[in-house]
Amino acid sequence: MDLLEYQGKQLFARHGLRVSSGQAVTSVEDAVKAAGEVGYPVVVKAQVLIGGRGKAGGVKLAADESEVREHAGNILGMDIKGHIVRTLWIEHASDIASEYYASVLLDRSAKRPLVMFSVEGGVDIEEVAERTPEKLIRHHVDALTGLSRAEAVEIARQGGADADVVEGVADALVALYEVWIEEDATLAEINPLIVTPEREVKALDSKVSLDGNALYRHPENQGLSDSENEDPIERRAKEEGVQYVKLDGDIGILGNGAGLVMSTLDVVAQAGGSPANFLDAGGGSDAEKIKQAVDLLLANEAVKAVLFNIFGGITRCDEVARGLIAAFEDIKPTVPFVVRLDGTNDVEGRRLLQEAALPNVHAARTMNEAADKVVALAAGQSVGAPA
Ligand code: GDP
Ligand code: MN
Repeated sequence: MDLLEYQGKQLFARHGLRVSSGQAVTSVEDAVKAAGEVGYPVVVKAQVLIGGRGKAGGVKLAADESEVREHAGNILGMDIKGHIVRTLWIEHASDIASEYYASVLLDRSAKRPLVMFSVEGGVDIEEVAERTPEKLIRHHVDALTGLSRAEAVEIARQGGADADVVEGVADALVALYEVWIEEDATLAEINPLIVTPEREVKALDSKVSLDGNALYRHPENQGLSDSENEDPIERRAKEEGVQYVKLDGDIGILGNGAGLVMSTLDVVAQAGGSPANFLDAGGGSDAEKIKQAVDLLLANEAVKAVLFNIFGGITRCDEVARGLIAAFEDIKPTVPFVVRLDGTNDVEGRRLLQEAALPNVHAARTMNEAADKVVALAAGQSVGAPA
């Protein structure tokens, strides 16, 4: 779960990292009011889950009210690489002497937390890593002991931080590591970490991703998901406890078990189709669950055909068939369905479906046959009479 800049900064502040005071607003009038309260000059910053806002014109300094009006007006509603700006962060502007870079993430291949630091901050860090790798310090941390202050001082020194701010940078690194470990973050990044003319070390930006699976340990962070930009159907699925992922195509996919769902996506793609979403019904799918799933799949208006791929194990195919029949009575879908039932009680399941003669429901014996059929149906082609 990615956080907006200002939300990340709130986490930073909780762990003792220095940040500028500011306010999140959603209108020009509130931006002006906020600027008055945080004190001029201010920075008007687009809050979107994408980097490079500065280059895109989404970060502007404002010296007075008329400039805040101008910039807030321009930035609100701006499209930054496909992300529409709905929220602004207004913070008191900082004077900058140097721009550094700091981050903490998990290095999976080394199986250790990785702290990175560079005095070449404010710019694209990938470029620094590529062109001048010696300027990006990479330090692996022992996860059991954590990042010690002595290590942090060494990182700051090695990286070439100005001598008078080595201590300040070390403090920031220790705090950033604390954010990463204690908030269950997968990434905690500051670019730029600035040094002010007063030699204060401060986070001017934040990029924080939290591990969604660990959110239950952080009730105070649960409100941080960017629900305004979250897909409404994904949000509904989450509330209902259903595994659902939205994609860009036009074929709705339901399977039972993550592995089967993944391979269904592959087979549909191989058959030339493009999945619109996928939903994992999990084990044991009773009628109510199937109805809920059909409802969610069809809530996406891009869906032109649905593939039900069920491999019966604990899940019994006859039960899935009954669920589907009940769902159809209730929901009356207008798009065609292809149903592949295989495994426990599949014969009974197929018999039930055949008897029910649901309109526009096509049976398939194998996954490949099901994929071919659903791709054809989504394209508006006929695949013969429903059975
Ligand atoms: P990003 O472009 O999305 O990474 O957004 P940042 O928050 O990093 O801002 C981009 C750039 O704007 C920074 O690297 C700074 O150079 C500049 N900037 C942001 N805030 C301030 C500020 O308070 N004062 C000054 N002078 N420049 C700022
Ligand atoms: Mn930045």
